[in-house]
Amino acid sequence: MKRQMIKIDEDKCNGCGACIPGCPEGALQLIDGKARLVSDLFCDGLGACLGNCPQDAIRVEEREAEPYSEELVMENIMKAGTNTIKAHLTHLKSVSLVRMDVPCCGGTEVLIKRALEQAGKLHFVKVNVISIDGKII
Ligand code: SF4
Repeated sequence: MKRQMIKIDEDKCNGCGACIPGCPEGALQLIDGKARLVSDLFCDGLGACLGNCPQDAIRVEEREAEPYSEELVMENIMKAGTNTIKAHLTHLKSVSLVRMDVPCCGGTEVLIKRALEQAGKLHFVKVNVISIDGKII
């Protein structure tokens, strides 16, 4: 699929690392003295890291990329601790939740709303419920 992704200009990048904390998805790492996008799956394309770069080495472009994966991002940033998770949730513009129509999924919406409240930002949460026979309710 084509979507918005960040692109790092290696010639401009001086490896200062200022962009790393600017990416709450954990999509950037310093490798061999340059900032690198470690996985398309982690980049949401919102460009939160752009303003952190003193070299103007990062821009957003549209290109073929794997779809962003919130699930993998959360797995990736859980180990970084609460502040990273808060930073990630704070910069999101909205949250969409898809859950099954079964009791064990019922608390997911409440958990997400609480997490967003703790992140100090109100977000629109869109909830899609899927029946056990696969229909959107
Ligand atoms: S902030 Fe800019 S110059 Fe510094 S490591 Fe990141 S991309 Fe490179």
